[in-house]
Amino acid sequence: MTTEHPSAFQPDLLAGRVALVTGGATGLGLEIAAVLGTHGARVAVCSRKEDNLRAAVDQLTAQGIDAMYGVCDVRQPDEVAAVVDAVLARFGRLDVVVNNAAGNFPTPITGLSPNGFKAVVDIDLLGTFHVSKAAHEAWLGEHGGSIVNISAAIQYRGMAMQAHVTAAKAGVDALSRTCAIEWGPDGVRVNVVAPGGMAGTEGMARFETAGVVGGQNPLGRVGTRREVADCVLFLASDAASYVTGATLVVDGGGWLADGRISGATTVGG
Ligand code: NAP
Repeated sequence: MTTEHPSAFQPDLLAGRVALVTGGATGLGLEIAAVLGTHGARVAVCSRKEDNLRAAVDQLTAQGIDAMYGVCDVRQPDEVAAVVDAVLARFGRLDVVVNNAAGNFPTPITGLSPNGFKAVVDIDLLGTFHVSKAAHEAWLGEHGGSIVNISAAIQYRGMAMQAHVTAAKAGVDALSRTCAIEWGPDGVRVNVVAPGGMAGTEGMARFETAGVVGGQNPLGRVGTRREVADCVLFLASDAASYVTGATLVVDGGGWLADGRISGATTVGG
């Protein structure tokens, strides 16, 4: 967890809970795993690259968090189900699922192949579907819990070089609302955190490398990984016990005011 400020939440907010964070070995996912873990959750992270996962678990363990990893490609339902089973075998329960894994590469539509478009939709949207469904089938459907899906803010207005991502993330938003309706009676809350471009992430670096510049935001600065993770913590916790089907946009108000106010330049989202 980055230590830019002391936590606004009680340190035992998620005591006794177990969280699974997809794409949790890097970037925002690792920050989310650390914030959930430092607030009492036992944490599992999963993605494809085992070296990154091992390093992430070492880092989380060094922060005093009981952590494990599972290797999976979220596009593969069998691999996803195996990771959910491994989490249940190790920790005995599963309370919080954060669908954070995603792919992105900035490219104009003219340079976007059908396979490139499909790869991002497969990871972001179908991956969220596979993980949510596996977790619901194996545990959440019977015991309740909280799913937080990491979306983005660029799909609300559209963004050049992001046709594949805006399509996928709009799907994630819509899927989340429907999951909230169908699974609410099971005690499962499903919400979305929609970040703007966050400092110190691979996603942001890709936009900077491509020279993609968005607009400005009313808060006049770029956000931090911690500011996204704190919002995930809130939605995952009992503090949000009556919140489901909601989208919490964490972008300094950028999507509302892109290019129409003065303030810090932001990119991506
Ligand atoms: P990142 O560092 O690129 O991390 C993405 C993670 O997803 C990686 O750990 C990656 O691990 C995993 N992943 C990718 N494909 C996968 C697959 N097929 N199966 C399993 N795991 C897979 O991304 P980030 O910038 O931190 O972004 C995290 C989330 O926030 C994403 O949902 C992104 O869309 C969203 N977001 C980010 C920003 C930003 O400013 N960074 C802004 C808006 C929204 P492996 O490669 O090892 O599989």
